[in-house]
Amino acid sequence: MQIKTILNRIQLQKGFVYGNVHWLNAGRTMALGVEIRARKGSRPKCSLCEQAGPGYDVLPERRFEFVPMWGIPVFFLYAMRRVVCSTCGVKVERVPWAEGKSHLTTTYKWFLAGWARRLSWKEVAEAFQTTWDNVFRSVKMAVKWGLEHRSLDSVTAIGIDELARRKGHKYLTMVYQIDNSAKRLLWVGKDRTQKTLIQFFREFGQENTARLRFVVSDMWKPYLRIVAKEAGQSLQVIDRFHVMSHFGRAIDKIRASEARELKARGEEPVLTGSRWCLLKRPKNLTAGQAVKLEELLRINLKAVRAYILKEDFQKFWTYKSPAWAARFLDAWCHRTMRSRLKPMKSVAKMLRSHRSYLLNWFACKGQVATGAIEGFNNKAKVTTRKAFGFRSINVQKVALYHTLGDLPEPTFTHKFC
Ligand SMILES: [Zn+2]
Repeated sequence: MQIKTILNRIQLQKGFVYGNVHWLNAGRTMALGVEIRARKGSRPKCSLCEQAGPGYDVLPERRFEFVPMWGIPVFFLYAMRRVVCSTCGVKVERVPWAEGKSHLTTTYKWFLAGWARRLSWKEVAEAFQTTWDNVFRSVKMAVKWGLEHRSLDSVTAIGIDELARRKGHKYLTMVYQIDNSAKRLLWVGKDRTQKTLIQFFREFGQENTARLRFVVSDMWKPYLRIVAKEAGQSLQVIDRFHVMSHFGRAIDKIRASEARELKARGEEPVLTGSRWCLLKRPKNLTAGQAVKLEELLRINLKAVRAYILKEDFQKFWTYKSPAWAARFLDAWCHRTMRSRLKPMKSVAKMLRSHRSYLLNWFACKGQVATGAIEGFNNKAKVTTRKAFGFRSINVQKVALYHTLGDLPEPTFTHKFC
């Protein structure tokens, strides 16, 4: 069987035919060159408007990299024609296997982008003897196509989260779809300002915004105000993951300052290495951590009292009736305000001032996949970490959409990977 025969079967090019296949020199390695000719009598199409027109001239032969075969690089070889377009003037023709000036075929780009879902971009580049830039360009194309072809009709619940870009104070705003039926990253924006969120609603559009029934976010008044203004019909909810992470930060503060105090007084450094037992839920503690926690509980430290308040608050999420949950919340806040633990009092104040949003959580329970936000948050962190070579925010955005966006792909006659 000839290579031509296989290509005709898996990758027919309308208006063109495959010609001879021969060895060619591609840098350090040998490669296969597949000649392509325009079908006899076919007229070139303008690359801008796709109208066919008379040929003008023929440019020197170009190479377009295709999916490698048996580890051998494969190139399409074709001399592009220029066309006299009645609308655009003299233009280079459009060919079905590649876009614009790209030296990679579209099929090869989808191939690389497919592997970039499974491996890091660096690994993909190494495995297929190509460059990191080529992998990036491929993923970017896949993301662009996916964003243009995805449907947002089904989005009725969104979750707003933030992601630290790296050390320091650079953040991204992430918006996820968290319907039970579909969970995915919808949007990434620079910073976490009011402007960022307004920009999301502009891009999401009025029609899609009008369909929103639930908007889940952290406690932050400016955000909540914007959501109320843009999606007034939706129920605004504060989610468990964000609330509990405020507790975590408060305990961290108390523990750190208390450890410093103890050390200054020359007392036993009982709080050293205790961070994890104070942050983890009791059932998730390892044996060693459980012992440590027991030791901590024996002495009545501020950090321990804060920990008990936090663990006690977990009960809030188990209520079925919002009325009973409200009673619990009020009692808890009252108790905490008398605790003389400043960071915990701040949490209580914050909870009090967001009381109605917290109680909305019970109205959306079961209807919305609120837990998905935490999962996405972790995956987004992994993506960011893996993409060590991320030079710019745009590269990071492309990676996040690619891994978390659940973006559609075109249907191919043959799937290469
Ligand atoms: Zn044209």
